[in-house]
Amino acid sequence: MKVKAVVLTALNEYSVQEIELDPPKENDVRVRMTATGLCMSDLSVINGKLPMPLPMVLGHEGAGVVEEVGSNVTNVQVGDHVITSFIPMCGECYFCLHQEPWLCTATDLFSGMQPDGTSRVKLNGEHIGAFAALGNMAEQIVCPSMCVVRIDKRHNLEAAALVGCGVMTGAGAALNTAKVKPGSSAAVFGCGGVGLSALQGAKIAGANPIIAVDLNDAKLEAAKDFGATHTINASKDPVAQIMEITNGIGVDYAFEVIGIPAVAAQAYAATRRGGTCCMVGAGSPTEEYKFSALEMPLASKKVCGCLYGSTNAKVDFEKLLGFYETGQLDLDRMQSRTYTIDEVKEGFDDMVEGKNIRGVILYK
Ligand SMILES: [Zn+2]
Ligand SMILES: [Zn+2]
Repeated sequence: MKVKAVVLTALNEYSVQEIELDPPKENDVRVRMTATGLCMSDLSVINGKLPMPLPMVLGHEGAGVVEEVGSNVTNVQVGDHVITSFIPMCGECYFCLHQEPWLCTATDLFSGMQPDGTSRVKLNGEHIGAFAALGNMAEQIVCPSMCVVRIDKRHNLEAAALVGCGVMTGAGAALNTAKVKPGSSAAVFGCGGVGLSALQGAKIAGANPIIAVDLNDAKLEAAKDFGATHTINASKDPVAQIMEITNGIGVDYAFEVIGIPAVAAQAYAATRRGGTCCMVGAGSPTEEYKFSALEMPLASKKVCGCLYGSTNAKVDFEKLLGFYETGQLDLDRMQSRTYTIDEVKEGFDDMVEGKNIRGVILYK
C-alpha cells in the first residue's frame, strides 16, 4: 500500500514522499492517521540533536483508526480509535513487570526499527526507519500493536492526538512523576506545548501558586490561560522572583521543560529545600547538569528525570481525555494551528519561530 509520509532523508532535509507500507505482520496493526502533532523531538531528529539513522519517517504523536490487525493482535480491533504510544509498553520486560511501563525496552527508540529489528516502510524499494517504530507523520502506518492504545469513540480524535506525546509528557510530569500535592507551589520553566501541559497538570493537582517562566512574553500570556497564577520573564532573574513569590522558600516542585543546563540550574535553585526538581526537557547528549556536592545532601532536594510523564498509557490516555471532557484539561487551545501533510514545512518553520503552542497535521 502506498501512502504519503514526511521522510527525513538527510539532516535538515525532509519532504513529503510516497512510501510503501508492508502488510501488518502477526503482531502489527495498520492505522489510518487522523491527526499528527508536530513535536519538538521531531525537530531534534531533523537537526541532528537526536541522532537517528536516516532515512526515517518522522512523527510520534498522533491518533487514528485501526484499519487492519495481524493474526496475533488482541488489544485492538478494526475500527477502534487509538492514540499511538512512542513507548511500546510490552507488559513483559523488567520495567513493565515493575509497573514502570514508560521505561519499556521492547523497542529501541533511536533505531527506527520495529521490535523485531526490521522495518515495515519502504522508500524507493528500500526499507527505511520509522521514528519510535511509529513514523506517524503519514496518512497510514504499520506499527506494533503494543504501540497503540484504544480510547473511547466519544473522544475527539484530533484533540486526542496531542495526548500521544506532549500533553502526556507535561501533565504526567506533574501528576505522575513529581506527584504534585494540593496546595503546593510549582514553577514551570519553558512554556511550549509540554510546559503548558505541565502547568495544566499542576492545576489539576491543585497547586497554588503556579509560576510560568519563559523568555517569550506571548507564551507567558498563553500560560495564564493554562493555569499559571504568576508569570516571570526569564530575562529578569527568575530565581529571585520565585523566591519573592514564595517568601524566600522556593517552590515545592520545579519543572525544567527545555533541556538547557543554565535553565536546569535555575529550576534547581528555585526548588525549596527538600522539594522536587523534575527534568522534563530533552537536551543535547553532550551537555551536562551540575550540582554542588555539598548542597545536594544539605538541601536534600529530589532531582528526577521524566520520560513520557511516567505514564502507564493504557490508563492515563483515557484519564487525560476524561479531564478534557470535564474542562480541566484544555486540548483545544493547545492545538493552535492545523496543516495538511503537504504544508509540513510551514508547520516546522512556525515551530522554529515559536508561533504555535502545537501545530497539528490533519489528514483528509
Ligand atoms: Zn514528542
Ligand atoms: Zn516492556
